Amino acid sequence: MLDPVCGVQVSEDDAAICLSFLDRRYCFCSLQCEEEFVEHPERYVLRDQDQWSGIEGVA
Ligand SMILES: [Zn+2]
Repeated sequence: MLDPVCGVQVSEDDAAICLSFLDRRYCFCSLQCEEEFVEHPERYVLRDQDQWSGIEGVA
């Protein structure tokens, strides 16, 4: 899968950290990328998911 923050290809095995967000699995190449995602998930989730469009104030 792709690290949504920096776009690098990562797998669950070699990712620095993985987490589940809105029922989807995200993996990150580094803790810095994971921190960035956690701070601004709307920046990265919006790209491939339209659930956010139904949430008031986010889209
Ligand atoms: Zn990354």
